[in-house]
This record gives sequence, C-alpha cells and structure tokens, in this order.
Amino acid sequence: MSVPTHSRIIFDGRFARELPEMAVAWQADDAPSPRLLALNEPVAAELGFEPGFLRSPKGLALLLGTSVPDGATPVAQAYSGHQFGSFNPRLGDGRALLLGEVTDVEGRLRDIHLKGSGRTPFARGGDGLAVVGPMLREYIVSEAMQALGVPTTRSLAVVATGRDVRRETMLPGAVLTRVASSHLRVGSFQYAAATGEQDLLKRLADHAISRHYPEAATAERPYLALFESVLSAQAALVAQWMLVGFLHGVMNTDNMTISGETIDYGPCAFMDVFDYSTVYSSIDRGGRYAYANQPLIAEWNLARLAETLLPLIDEEQEQAIALAVGVLESFRPRYSGAWLEGMKAKLGLPDDVEDEVASALANDVLTLLQENHVDYTSFFRGLSSVVRGDARPARDKVLDVAAFDAWAERWLTHGPDADAMDRVNPVYIPRNHLVEEALEAATAGDLGPLDRLVEVVARPFEERPGLERYAAGAPDDFGKYTTYCGT
Ligand code: AMP
Ligand code: MG
Repeated sequence: MSVPTHSRIIFDGRFARELPEMAVAWQADDAPSPRLLALNEPVAAELGFEPGFLRSPKGLALLLGTSVPDGATPVAQAYSGHQFGSFNPRLGDGRALLLGEVTDVEGRLRDIHLKGSGRTPFARGGDGLAVVGPMLREYIVSEAMQALGVPTTRSLAVVATGRDVRRETMLPGAVLTRVASSHLRVGSFQYAAATGEQDLLKRLADHAISRHYPEAATAERPYLALFESVLSAQAALVAQWMLVGFLHGVMNTDNMTISGETIDYGPCAFMDVFDYSTVYSSIDRGGRYAYANQPLIAEWNLARLAETLLPLIDEEQEQAIALAVGVLESFRPRYSGAWLEGMKAKLGLPDDVEDEVASALANDVLTLLQENHVDYTSFFRGLSSVVRGDARPARDKVLDVAAFDAWAERWLTHGPDADAMDRVNPVYIPRNHLVEEALEAATAGDLGPLDRLVEVVARPFEERPGLERYAAGAPDDFGKYTTYCGT
C-alpha cells in the first residue's frame, strides 16, 4: 500500500474566526527528534486520517504542530478559571494550541489540539512543555473512559519530541494530540464575562449553542436553555465518574467542559479500595476534589457558569438570578437520578424495584466496602458470581462476612440479572500500579506494557483468560498512590 505524503483533511479555524478576542495565533515549538509513542487508529479513522500518513515524518509534523496543515491557524485559547476556589482572570493555553477543527466522517466538528507544544503568551512561569509519562497517562485513561462509556476527549497520538524537559529530574518531552468536540470550558465563559464585553459573551454563547446544543437556539430563553443543557450533561457525567470510581483530581472551572466531556487528565486516577475521602492529587492538600466531593464541586462550578450568563438570560438581574437558580436547583435531582439509575444497573436490579429500596441497597453496600477496605471494581464485578451461585468472588473480599451475607440476602430477593451486571461492571480499569508500570517502561523506551494495557482497557467488560493480573487490585506494597499535576 502506498502511503500518502500529505493529509487530505481540511482544517477550519472556526473558533479563531468567531472569537478572535479569545484566540492568540501561535506556532508550536520545533521537535529535534520526533518519535511516535502511541497512535489511536480508531480515532484516526473517525477523523479520516490515514494511519500510514500519520506515522510518516510529515504526519508526525502534523501531530506536533510543526508543520501547519492546510486551512489551519493554530491558536492559544484564552480562558479564566477558579483554581482550588480562587479566581484567576487570565489562565489560557500556556502549553497548548488549538490547531483547528475538522469535520469527522460522521459530519461532527472536532477540535484537534496539542498539549506540550511550547510556551505561549499564557505560559506565565511555565516552560510550555509536557513529558512522556503524563501525556501517556492521559492517553491510557481517556481511552479507558471511552471504552467504559463515559463522555471524554480522545487522544489521537503521543509523540516524543526528543527534547528533555526539566522536572524534578530531566525527563523525555512529548506532545499529546487531543481530539474534543470543543475546548470550550466554564473558564471560557468566565473570561468573556470578565472582559465586560457583552457582545463577546453573546458570541461565545451562540458558538457553544451551535456546536453543542443547537436545540437551545429555538428555546424561549436560549441562554437559560444553554445553561440547563450544560448542567444536565455535567450531572450525568459526574454520576458516571462516581459509578466507575473515577477521580478527576483537579476540577477547576477551566477543566470543566461545556460539552460534558471529561477533559484534562492530570492528577486523575481510578479508585482501588473504596473510600469516599480518596484524594490522589499531590497538590490537593485540603481534599477539595476528593471522590465524594465531585458532585458538589460540579454544582459549584455550574453556579460560576450561571453567573457569567446572567446578563444574557434577562436584562432584569433579579429575574435572571431567579431563573438561573431555578435551573441550578435541578442539579441535585438530576445527579441523584443518574447515579441511582447507574447503581441499579450495577446491582442488576429490575426496573420495578422502588428507588428508596434501590438507594438503600446501593448506599449500604458502599458503606460495607468503605468499612471493610474493599476493592471497588473487583467487588462489583464479583457480584454477578453471587447471583450465579458462587458467592466467593465478592464475599471473600469482605472481612465482616455476616454483614455481607445480610446485605446479599436482601439484594438477592430482587432477582438481580447477572448477565446485565457483567455488561456494566468492568473487569479491567487502568489500575494505578499498572499505569505507573506502563509509564515507567515507556519513559525508559519500552512501549510493550503500554500497548498491552491500552489493549486490555479498551475492552473492559469482556473477561479474557491470561489477563488476571490486569483484573487484580493493587499489590499490598504499592502504598498510597499520588499523582502529580502540571508535569
Ligand atoms: P491545568 O489545571 O493543568 O489544566 O493547567 C492550568 C493552567 O496552567 C493552564 O493555563 C495551563 O495552560 C497552564 N500550564 C500547566 N502546565 C504548564 C506548563 N508546563 N507551561 C505553561 N503553562 C502550563
Ligand atoms: Mg486545564
């Protein structure tokens, strides 16, 4: 097969054109010696890229942003953000660029974005760079999320630049090529609102409606409908995070999308042993973004979004506030509804089980897991065996066997569906010790463990012989897991 020497994909620069005040034209740094570490062929195919081309020197130059494709005007996006609760009016892409948008094979507009492509005017004290480990972590975890059915940005590729980057030690640099339905964030709206230019704010809101929630355009109050759509998408998203045991780690308002996709996999991780107070991020000393706080933080971030939209919602501020608060108050029931529906599925409960009964079963089993320090993912997967007559895979994980038996007896009276449970309770997640092992090997030049892990987590529900070590909890000597941000 002959390899095309150029991409036939035409890039658009819609964000830069419609919102020039929020786009700074910029150029990616050169890479001395590019080497492809990971290429997502299914995502390449969705976008219409030939994998052979992307592997070629010209393809790598496209993935790194060092050769600008036809039609593209790479820009650093401006945004603000509340970081750990305090407002920073000027964040923006300090080490990232939006190459442009492409229309994928299904006709959807997708952003192609680079992370680690060099300093931009938003870099502040940062070096503008990224290193191999964290970019591959984003690649692995985002692919796992996609396979688990959780809305997420995607990773097209990770390319090592051949340049070392100074962190605590010198580490190999890399660029992640990311694909998203857009990079609009709550922080984008905070930026537009902070300028005081209502025209900019309105253009941003119209851009968001057109890209993500076109039905809002014909609502009686389009900007209130936009807010409601974002709130609804985020309530569903965070419920899914909680159900799969995912911790985002840094839910600042600049890391929360308008689309409802998970974005910015920094100090993120999947929980091993179930504990509501789990925090993995080294910089989150107060536990603001602990597992159990995630829904509350999402609601808080949405309140910040609502504040930015008030002038568009109604000219009368009192009226705008009343309308926004009315929508905001729907967050909790929406979140709880999505979570309970997911828990009913995880427990294999038939539809006709009453919400109060299902809710008590779910909360009681989580208390059991918390008190007995049980691995979350393998316990839930093990429950289907209990239905099939072998209680051991779940029961053996719980020290307080009597408490487990009492709970299981209550649960089993509802006739849970074991096969349905196996379709929603994953066997394989990107466990922290396996992610670390893969990143360490890749940083040292061995891509084998990375490739295997990506393959395993891409089919999370399908138990396969020989993959037992990928299904097991962390070894006892793994210790308390910590991830580091901004690296
Ligand atoms: P985050 O919370 O990791 O998404 O990043 C917060 C802000 O810091 C964003 O404006 C990033 O662009 C910026 N940033 C993070 N790391 C770097 C870096 N190494 N160089 C420049 N800017 C950075
Ligand atoms: Mg970010």
